[in-house]
Amino acid sequence: MYFDSTILLLLPGLILGLWAQSRVKSAYAQYSKVFTQRGLPASAAVEELLHLQGVSDIVIQPVAGELTDHFDPKTDTLRLSEGVYGSSSVAAVGIAAHEAGHALQKKDNYPFLALRTFLVPAVNIGSNLAWPIFFLGILFSFEPLMTAGIVCFGLAVLFSLITLPVEFDASRRAMAMLAGSGYLTQEEEKGVKTVLTAAAMTYVASFISALMQLLRLVLISNRRRR
Ligand SMILES: [Zn+2]
Repeated sequence: MYFDSTILLLLPGLILGLWAQSRVKSAYAQYSKVFTQRGLPASAAVEELLHLQGVSDIVIQPVAGELTDHFDPKTDTLRLSEGVYGSSSVAAVGIAAHEAGHALQKKDNYPFLALRTFLVPAVNIGSNLAWPIFFLGILFSFEPLMTAGIVCFGLAVLFSLITLPVEFDASRRAMAMLAGSGYLTQEEEKGVKTVLTAAAMTYVASFISALMQLLRLVLISNRRRR
């Protein structure tokens, strides 16, 4: 960690992130205790929802951990966390439907999903190397290294920017699937919306955090270049 006054730039993202996390936790806690009238476990519900959309080649598996749900576009596998997989709660069905939204994105060749998947390896390397490279640049007052560090971090910012439409669109698809199938009561639909909106805010917070970190690197490097 590098300390100077620019560290204050990280505060808004940090506060927003903590706030969003706590909203997700409380929405999840509330709606994982409210059960859908249909009563199907989320894994079966989502299989049915996807089937209605003409998608039947997705593998649905349980995965360890809490809120570890994700869709793997490489293997067409939808992994639902233990608390979601077998639960018929409003939160579980909402989260599973959101992941099914990602599966639909892949089926429709949704461009931002493809772009995000394409960027993953570069972003993993870039975000790990950004600070070390940047730091060496400062240590040796070597501008090209500072710039390389900033570019690496820029990749991470780009990634979290592209993540926004991908996540918002997956939730929109989830709501459309649920509403279109008449799967939920109006009250249950409201619950799903609360959970998914809270989850979306964490991605907004991540983007703002990443953007502010990038700004910080630029400010530090400008100071050093003078
Ligand atoms: Zn998602």
